[in-house]
Amino acid sequence: MRFADLHTHTYHSDGTRAPREVIDVARSHGIDIVSISDHDNLAAYFETRAYAASVGVTLIPGIELSCGFAGVDVHILAYAFDPLDPRIDHRLRAFRDARQRRGHAIVDKLRGLGINIRPERVDELAAGGAVGRPHVARALVEAGHVASVSEAFDIYLAAGKPAHVEKARFQVADAVELIRSAGGVTSVAHPAIYPDHSSIVPQLLDAGVDAVEVLHPDVDEIERERYTNLARFRGKFITGGSDDHGKVKTVETLGSIKVPESWIAPILERCER
Ligand code: AMP
Ligand code: FE
Ligand code: FE
Ligand code: ZN
Repeated sequence: MRFADLHTHTYHSDGTRAPREVIDVARSHGIDIVSISDHDNLAAYFETRAYAASVGVTLIPGIELSCGFAGVDVHILAYAFDPLDPRIDHRLRAFRDARQRRGHAIVDKLRGLGINIRPERVDELAAGGAVGRPHVARALVEAGHVASVSEAFDIYLAAGKPAHVEKARFQVADAVELIRSAGGVTSVAHPAIYPDHSSIVPQLLDAGVDAVEVLHPDVDEIERERYTNLARFRGKFITGGSDDHGKVKTVETLGSIKVPESWIAPILERCER
């Protein structure tokens, strides 16, 4: 029996690890099926595909899409779609461009508050990937304006704080349709973190999302059981992943979540076709 981690990030989005490092650290924990699910960016897949194959790791095309649903910000994981589908490439490019503009808008708001960081530094920290608030937070830490990434969020970047800027969002139904038409499946990321999640998650499944990420560091045992039953009752499946961001978060979670391969047959079947 093999194990999977289907939720990881690299420096192509808001993680700190190199794509190969994700593969190597996963392997060292006995994980042989990996999806790198960077926010709005597939670069890590193309960069690591050959390496993963050479060390016997099954690498599944993945992305984490920031979506809107009934006014709530939800994250939808997408897997096993055709990574070369031009519609996906087009959408991801448009979202990355919008994220970069938003990053600069946050820098402008900070300047208005008397806090100066260079927009070029934010882009550099994003390394050509999807610019996010964590990159702004790291630039703030580097320049000595705050002591930590979480302090940057608490004082400036979180919703309701003075340098917060909204992000462009996919609607869930559009994301589901796009991924399905490219041969892939979708899963509700970290279901327990949304406001009113016990009402939102079933609605997401009814809107066409194929699975729920029940194994995740922010989903406790009670919620895991609840969402596993919910998924099964609706004929959906379950996924899991560590949501590792390397050193951005205070704990590195890679290796802490091991999903039995039998759970994710609908994903593995698509990759073997
Ligand atoms: P963005 O996609 O730019 O809105 O940034 C979202 C990312 O910011 C999430 O993936 C988290 O990793 C990170 N994040 C959100 N809230 C916090 C927080 N309070 N402290 C640290 N990181 C956070
Ligand atoms: Fe993230
Ligand atoms: Fe997420
Ligand atoms: Zn994530």
